[in-house]
Amino acid sequence: MKKVVYPGTFDPITNGHIDLVERGARLFDQVVVAVVSGGSTSKQPLFTVEERVVLAQEALQGMGRQVEVIAFDGFLVDFVRSVGGDAILRGLRAVSDFEYEFQLAGMNRHLAEEIETLFVTPAQQYGYLSSSMVREIAQLGGDVAPFVQKNVQQALEEKFGRGVQ
Ligand code: ADP
Repeated sequence: MKKVVYPGTFDPITNGHIDLVERGARLFDQVVVAVVSGGSTSKQPLFTVEERVVLAQEALQGMGRQVEVIAFDGFLVDFVRSVGGDAILRGLRAVSDFEYEFQLAGMNRHLAEEIETLFVTPAQQYGYLSSSMVREIAQLGGDVAPFVQKNVQQALEEKFGRGVQ
């Protein structure tokens, strides 16, 4: 049984992330979406790790037991080993993603030679989509419906004080 770990902040999960999970699920028996707590990085997430996990679980519900969402902290490679993962899945949207992703993959290979990093590109319409863009649109009161699932849209409305009464 081959298992891939798809790590990220998922703040919040977007349709671009979901597109990648679907592609991963076609290549592997199991996809573990690993939500990084984000405590140690400079990024201060909008949603807590618990919220991000629940939002991802709900958004990926339709994919059944092939997909699992788990929070993690610390070294990614340790987490991958702890769940018996074979590979790491990452997304490449544009050239701008490349340098950071290349560094990350190199460092992870240094830490764990046996774990391969796989890069997948999303469907064309998600090539410009990012969680930060979605957060910004939501904060300005824009429509995020084309970019995220319904549960995420509602969570964003609640965060920014425009919850449906
Ligand atoms: P991180 O903070 O680790 O970059 P993200 O949640 O922003 O976490 O992204 C996780 C992974 O998903 C990254 O590899 C990122 O490039 C990829 N990703 C994010 N959005 C998209 C998208 N629209 N299409 C394809 N890959 C994406």
